[in-house]
Amino acid sequence: MKPIKEYIPVVGKQVIDELYLVADKVKNIKVQNINSTHSGGGVAEILSRMIPLMKDLGISVSWDSLEAGDKFFTITKKIHNALHGLEVSLTSKEYDYFLEINEKNQKKLSTDSDIVYVHDPQPIALIDKDKGQGKKWLWRCHVDFSKPQQDVWNFLKKFIQNYDASVFSAPAFARKLNCRQVLVSPSIDPLSDKNKRLDQREIDSVLEKYGIDKDKPIITQVSRFDYLKDPLGVIKSYRLVKKYIDCQLVLAGGGATDDPNTIEVLKEAENSAALDKDIFILHLPAQSHLEINALQRASTVILQKSLREGFGLTVCEALWKEKPVIASAVGGIPLQIAHKYSGILTYTTEGTAYWIKQLIQEPEYAKRLGAHGRRHVANNFLITRQIQDYLLLFLSLYNQSDIVDLG
Ligand code: UDP
Repeated sequence: MKPIKEYIPVVGKQVIDELYLVADKVKNIKVQNINSTHSGGGVAEILSRMIPLMKDLGISVSWDSLEAGDKFFTITKKIHNALHGLEVSLTSKEYDYFLEINEKNQKKLSTDSDIVYVHDPQPIALIDKDKGQGKKWLWRCHVDFSKPQQDVWNFLKKFIQNYDASVFSAPAFARKLNCRQVLVSPSIDPLSDKNKRLDQREIDSVLEKYGIDKDKPIITQVSRFDYLKDPLGVIKSYRLVKKYIDCQLVLAGGGATDDPNTIEVLKEAENSAALDKDIFILHLPAQSHLEINALQRASTVILQKSLREGFGLTVCEALWKEKPVIASAVGGIPLQIAHKYSGILTYTTEGTAYWIKQLIQEPEYAKRLGAHGRRHVANNFLITRQIQDYLLLFLSLYNQSDIVDLG
């Protein structure tokens, strides 16, 4: 992991100096993050980059994940889908099991830090009724629950309102709640293996490894194999384009230990791709960051055709690489893409196909979109900004007199 000082050439010295300044005020506060998995998906991606950087800034920060099995994660996946507005309902047994696993973890995990930072619904019920002296609880929501399924929402709301504050990724996600709500957008790490510069040799070697032709347009979507990421819709859009342009499609992604549907969705995508040799369905192991980086950089156009989305970190990742991105106008994606300026927002399979064709045929326009996109990410969605937001949020939980020593 790179020390925070190495970010100076990317974000400037002033940003790093300010981080040190705020970090100095937070360094006596112990922060514990709890989420559902160390591997797979955007939350783990961000925490794995942010925790070491916070430590380098002198913050006492830790990260624990829930201990749970498929039965629990099948239930939490339902909760996730319900928050995204899908018509799913949970039985009372399922709610009970959800609470039982939270309770077991609550007993196992030591939550003796000053701030317990709980991510997403899976561990939401860990919140200790008797908070203990001076202990603060934060709940971070990475999901778009602007139109949640009502029963699930009512169930979660009881817990959310117990927290000292809830943190959302986009203004549209906020709800009526009796606790403080804070807006903090997610971010990417420009120096991670996922996002750092690669030389052409490294990129070509990944294409060679998978037999992808670098001289033919490459359309890529990087995502967990999840229905909400619409891999089948991506294949349909590609087929519409393929009638006119000889191109290739890469669907690259793995799963997450808290997502039980990966194999089922992957199989459907493989069946749908059938015998088309220009469709590459790559089921990648966790930690394939360099390969994903190379695939994104090799792409002519990048898609994120999600039906629902939290923030959609993959959009940021692609824009940072100056790629033209075509993405659905859902969740946090419109925060990242201004239509026809820093990318393209679409609503349908046909619309996606139309824009793929346009961008392949108009490389100069596509390049401009990518350049604007990178600037937007540089100004808004780099990890240093998110660390700054979090440190200020931690500070804001205390009164001046509570905080250690403000000097
Ligand atoms: N990702 C990955 N390997 C995969 C699929 C996704 O490393 O096989 C990464 C992707 O690059 C991004 C994150 O996982 O950093 C996905 O975050 P996003 O917000 O796009 O979606 P989520 O999976 O959290 O719904």
